[in-house]
Amino acid sequence: MSKYEAVIGLEVHVELKTKTKIFCGCPTEFGAEPNTNVCPICLGLPGSTGVLNKKVVEYAIKAGLALNCEIAGYNKFDRKNYYYPDLPKGFQVSQYDYPIAFNGYLDIEVNGETKRIGIERLHIEEDPGKLVHLGETITVAQGSLIDYNRSGMPLVEIVTKPVIHSGEEARVYLEKLKQTLEYTGVSDVKMEQGSLRCDANVSVRPVGSEKLGTKTEIKNLNSFRAVQRAIEYEIARQIDVLEDGEKVIPETRTWDENKGITLSMRNKENPDYRCFTEADLPPLDVSREWVEELRNSLPELPDARKKRLIEVDGLPEYDATVITSTKALADFYDRTVEKYKDAKTVSNWIMGEFSRLLNANNLEVSETKVTPDGLAKLLGLIENGTISGKIAKQVFEEMFSTGDDPAEIVKKKGLVQISDQGQLEGIIAEVIANNPKSVEDYKNGKEKAIGFLVGQVMKATRGKANPGMVNKLLKEKLDQI
Ligand SMILES: [Zn+2]
Repeated sequence: MSKYEAVIGLEVHVELKTKTKIFCGCPTEFGAEPNTNVCPICLGLPGSTGVLNKKVVEYAIKAGLALNCEIAGYNKFDRKNYYYPDLPKGFQVSQYDYPIAFNGYLDIEVNGETKRIGIERLHIEEDPGKLVHLGETITVAQGSLIDYNRSGMPLVEIVTKPVIHSGEEARVYLEKLKQTLEYTGVSDVKMEQGSLRCDANVSVRPVGSEKLGTKTEIKNLNSFRAVQRAIEYEIARQIDVLEDGEKVIPETRTWDENKGITLSMRNKENPDYRCFTEADLPPLDVSREWVEELRNSLPELPDARKKRLIEVDGLPEYDATVITSTKALADFYDRTVEKYKDAKTVSNWIMGEFSRLLNANNLEVSETKVTPDGLAKLLGLIENGTISGKIAKQVFEEMFSTGDDPAEIVKKKGLVQISDQGQLEGIIAEVIANNPKSVEDYKNGKEKAIGFLVGQVMKATRGKANPGMVNKLLKEKLDQI
C-alpha cells in the first residue's frame, strides 16, 4: 500500500425535490406505477419540446451556494448524445462546457483532521429512465424492464476534484454532502430511493508521481458503506494489477455487494458524446440579485450550526455533532431550547429517548407526533418535581405515539410523583419490615444494600416515589434502627 497513492473523484447525482419534472408538468412523486408519470416531452416523442422548470434552476443555485461554489452568470444546456434504452430521445440534456456552478468545496473531518474537498462543478441535467434488471446483478440479468417515470426528473451532478485518497474520505465526503443538501431542502437525498447516487472514479499511482494513473469508474454504489468498501477493494485490485506488471484497463465496473468485489461492466475508452448546444432551450442569464436573494434564503448550514451549539449553547462537541446531523433534528432541538433553557438536558433527551424511539419505530423526525413544545413541557414537569425522570420516559413514549400533552398523560394515568413524606414513610416502614436480610446487610456496612431497598419502595409505588426523598428518608430510618 505504501508504494502507491490512490486518487479518487466522486460524481454524485442528486434528484431535486421539485413538484414537476425538468421540462414538462409530469409529477416527480416516488413510487408511482411504472410508466404512469409520462408525457410526449419526457418520453422524447418526435416534435415535442419542453420548457425549463424555474424551480430547478433555483434549487441548483441553492445547492451550489451551500457547497461554496461560484454561480455562473451565463450558463447553457447541451445535448449529450448516446444510445441506451433508458434514453428514448437518444440524447440527454445536460450542461457541458458552461455549468451553472463551479469551484466550490466542502470541509470534512477524517481522523480528527479537517480536510477541504474541492468541488469542480455542479451542473443541471435530466435523468434518463430507469432500467430494472431481472436477476441478482446486471452481469447475470435475464432481461431488463424500463420505467420512464424517472425520465426527465431534474438532477444536479456534483463532481469533486480528484483530491480524495481513501475509501473512508470518500464516504465521509458523501455523508457531509448529503447532510449539507438536506439542510438546503433541495432534495430528499435518499440513497435507498435513488435520489442520491454516487459513482467513483478510482486510480492509483506510485507515491511521488505527478501523473494520474488509468482510472476505472465504479457504479451501483447504493450505500455509504458500499462506497467505502468498493473503493477500498478497487484500490487493492488496481495495485495487484500493477504489481503483476499489467496495465489497468479504463472501464466501467459495477459493485457486487454480496461478493464484496467490483466487476467489469463495459470498456470505457474514449467515450464520445458529441456534445453540442441544445438549441431548443435558450442559455440562462442568472442575475446577481437573484443569487444574493437565494443566498440569503439559505438556512444556517451544518458547520455554522454546530459551532453555535458549542459556543453559544455550551453543548459538548459530541452532542453538537449528533444534534446537527440532520436539519430536522437540529430544528427540533432549537425549538425545544426556546421553551426550556437547559440546553444539555434537551440534548440528552433528543440524543437519548427521542433518537431511540425514532430508530425503534424507523421514523423520521417529521413523522412523529411529539412536538418541541411537548418535550419542553415534559422537562418542566421533571424540574418542578411533578414526575420523576424515570416516569418521564414512560410519559414521553406515550407522547411520541399520541402527541398528547404530558400533563394530561400524567393526570390520566395517575403518574404524579409521590412526594408526601407521611405516605412515603409508611411504605418505607413496610419495606424495612419485609426485608430484614437487606437491613442487616446495610447495618453490617454493606452500603449497596440500600439500593435494593430503594428499588423495593419504587416497585411498591410503581415508580412514582420521589427518588431523592426515598433515599433520604430510608437512610434516616435505617440509621435509627
Ligand atoms: Zn412528462
